[in-house]
Amino acid sequence: MSGREKDFIDEAFAENWVVPLGPNVNGFEKDLENFFINDYAPQAATSGREDFDKKRIVALSSGTAAIHLGLTALGVGPGDEVMVQSFTFSASANPVTYLGATPVFIDSEPDSWNMDPDLLDRAIADRIAKTGEKPKAIIPVYLYGMPADIKGILDVARKWDIPVLEDSAEAFGSLYDGLPCGTFGQYGVLSFNGNKMITTSGGGALICPDEESAKLVTSYATQSREPFPWYQHERVGFNYRLSNICAGIGRGQMTIAHDHLRHHRNVQEQYRRLLADVEGIELHDNPAPEYDSNFWLCAITFSPALRVRGDDGCGRPEAMRRHLDSQGIESRHLWKPMHLQPFFSDAPAYVNGVSEDLFSRGLCLPAGPYVGENEVRRVVEAIRESIL
Ligand SMILES: *Cc1c(COP(=O)(O)O)cnc(C)c1O
Repeated sequence: MSGREKDFIDEAFAENWVVPLGPNVNGFEKDLENFFINDYAPQAATSGREDFDKKRIVALSSGTAAIHLGLTALGVGPGDEVMVQSFTFSASANPVTYLGATPVFIDSEPDSWNMDPDLLDRAIADRIAKTGEKPKAIIPVYLYGMPADIKGILDVARKWDIPVLEDSAEAFGSLYDGLPCGTFGQYGVLSFNGNKMITTSGGGALICPDEESAKLVTSYATQSREPFPWYQHERVGFNYRLSNICAGIGRGQMTIAHDHLRHHRNVQEQYRRLLADVEGIELHDNPAPEYDSNFWLCAITFSPALRVRGDDGCGRPEAMRRHLDSQGIESRHLWKPMHLQPFFSDAPAYVNGVSEDLFSRGLCLPAGPYVGENEVRRVVEAIRESIL
């Protein structure tokens, strides 16, 4: 917290704006538009992005709600198919299911760990051959904040004329080619859950292509009420607007967004330095100059030869996780791919082994606000101890 969050909340109470609309919601949206759009407009102009400064941002109750409304605005409905990155958190795929559509899972490429554009291209051709229908949308994800090969994905999307909805929930402040993740597709999703780069306790936002679509999304988020003196509805509606109290937290957080980003990139730099001579451990890092991750989480992978103490058949990531845990250090497995999840076992999947391989030999390390240089040192020391 910056200390400013409570001022915005106090204001909301003083003016009795304790509802899912109000000055904090409007102010937070303006802050987000400054951060994502206005600050980058000159850079976007030099990249020939004429669509860029038309974009508008709508604050919502969660990132999951933002995906649900983005897909709704794109017209996804029962029987449709949506191409979704398999290596992700389940929230990327669940809203496809809410709409009665089917997720089609696409594996990752080994550099960014995100959606493989070539595999996506082949999968789209195969879906059309099998079903006679074009998939309705493509959802790439920026895992742990790392940009995807979004240029490659957009090329494929353009070739087939299919809209892209970027799941940028983990990539607040990440850049690809100097522009923010979440601003490349038709829609971009942000999350302000408690564990994300900035938080509103729970919340999200949808980056929309223009004023008109932002109005449509806002209408969907507020029960699709038409401008009549009585309650009139002509479309399905949702209760997905962000609370004015939570938006107050968001406004406070936006005053220190750049500090959070600096912190996370700094933690990555320390892991880079301290893990450099630990044999068999590789730190997941920007694969090329156009990639600029926010390093929301720092992740490592093990080389094939590396052996971990206490691996009694539980697998190397679990053995190391247990050792770190015994030292009071919390670590996490990498995301278990969606095509391996029992709930999605019937969904079509186009796999190349990359996400399954990463899941079997990787771990996420602590990177939050309380992780300083001493903590990184302690984590790396514990990693060394756990190696045989
Ligand atoms: C957190 C997250 C979401 C969902 O955001 P919520 O605000 O928690 O609903 C979606 N996708 C990914 C990749 C996430 O990490």
